[in-house]
Amino acid sequence: MKLFVATHNKHKLREIAQILPGFEIVPDNPEGIEENAPDFEGNALIKVRAIASRHPGEWCMADDSGLEVNALGGAPGVRSARYAGEEGNTPANNALLLKNLEGVEDRRANFNCTIALVSPDGCEHVCEGKVFGKIASSPSGVEGFGYDPLFIPAGFDKSFAELSSDAKNAISHRGRALEKVKGIIAPAKKKSGAFLAYLKLFRAVNIPTVPGDVLVGAAAALAATGAISGVKAAAAAAASVCLYLFGLVDNDIVGAAKKNSLRPIPAGEISLGAARVARGVTWALALLLASRFGFSVEWWIASSALLVGIVVYNRTKLSALMGLCRGLNVLMGALAVIPSPSGDLRLFAYAGIPAAVWFVYITAVTQYAKHEDSIPGRRAVVGLLISALVYFQLVALLFFSLSYPSLLMQKFLLSGAIILVVLRLCKKFMPKVSAS
Ligand code: IMP
Repeated sequence: MKLFVATHNKHKLREIAQILPGFEIVPDNPEGIEENAPDFEGNALIKVRAIASRHPGEWCMADDSGLEVNALGGAPGVRSARYAGEEGNTPANNALLLKNLEGVEDRRANFNCTIALVSPDGCEHVCEGKVFGKIASSPSGVEGFGYDPLFIPAGFDKSFAELSSDAKNAISHRGRALEKVKGIIAPAKKKSGAFLAYLKLFRAVNIPTVPGDVLVGAAAALAATGAISGVKAAAAAAASVCLYLFGLVDNDIVGAAKKNSLRPIPAGEISLGAARVARGVTWALALLLASRFGFSVEWWIASSALLVGIVVYNRTKLSALMGLCRGLNVLMGALAVIPSPSGDLRLFAYAGIPAAVWFVYITAVTQYAKHEDSIPGRRAVVGLLISALVYFQLVALLFFSLSYPSLLMQKFLLSGAIILVVLRLCKKFMPKVSAS
């Protein structure tokens, strides 16, 4: 879910992202706005209204914050950023503050953060957070920003600039105001997003690339042996989709501790317990399908290897293991559809070639995808390379249907074409769940 924030201050943006994980924080600082209200609330509202008019139907927020010193009658207050005259001149602001407090015994002060929020329906909300403390006699620490080196929060003997960002966020004015913001946004997000969250967990847009692997294997078996069970092929495709979903959920469970992630578990959209249940259900469904439709022993062996491959890949991120899983998927299509495939060398030759091509291709794509978050444009290329798999599946199905024309083969080819259409529709209509 997007949250437009009226600031370009990278310190604030980092704090906001840390406290509101799971939101896509989009900075949008309104230019030329005069923050001339007499209080924090007024200024925050001026800023948030300016960006909300640019992003109707979206969550928007703006904060106004500052330091209030008791002995200075609440100054610098709303003028905190420009206390010494020039906007944002931190050394001058801090020096002036120390000068104005020279010889003053009462050093009590507080930071105030007032956040104005506009919800997608246009309602305005105001959340305030305060942290009390005192002003030190000299600066210390290098973390944070602004007056942090001078502010010692109550109960501490260190300045904000000497605390880690997590420690500061836990008690800071902004942390407290953002907790209130979370209380407003998170329930709304949960209500609208439970279904979407599960689509995200299952990476719904990528699912259509899986059943085609199995169809290629089944088509290879048909071309090699001349007699296979079409029903088993469909059941094997469904079982492979279940095992794929098992792998995706397991991957998210392994990465659940990652902060600042948009994935549904760290974002709080799906609990770890619910994800574990989903993982168990997908696995059980695959096994149920396999026993209900009587897949061969060889299929069970290959699917056990697939399961081990998935679990180890999720914990080691070895690209070749991902390639192996997709190659096995093709092979499993061939192994599921005939009763005892192990003696049939022709079958292994026919299914083994696409399986090997899949292995090499997916290993290479996975390796290439490793830096997709840090290299601009790479995520889009990776998306295209994964979608390309469906075209490979179609080519392979076409090849097998030319070499062994039959009604069942035509059905496989038609299914491959339908999968391609479904993939295109998913890409078009499910952009929100495509983030990996
Ligand atoms: P504004 O909210 O962007 O107008 O900034 C107000 C000013 O208050 C900042 O430029 C800082 O000088 C000060 N300030 C606000 N929050 C903090 C904080 O967390 N640490 C230190 N200084 C802060």
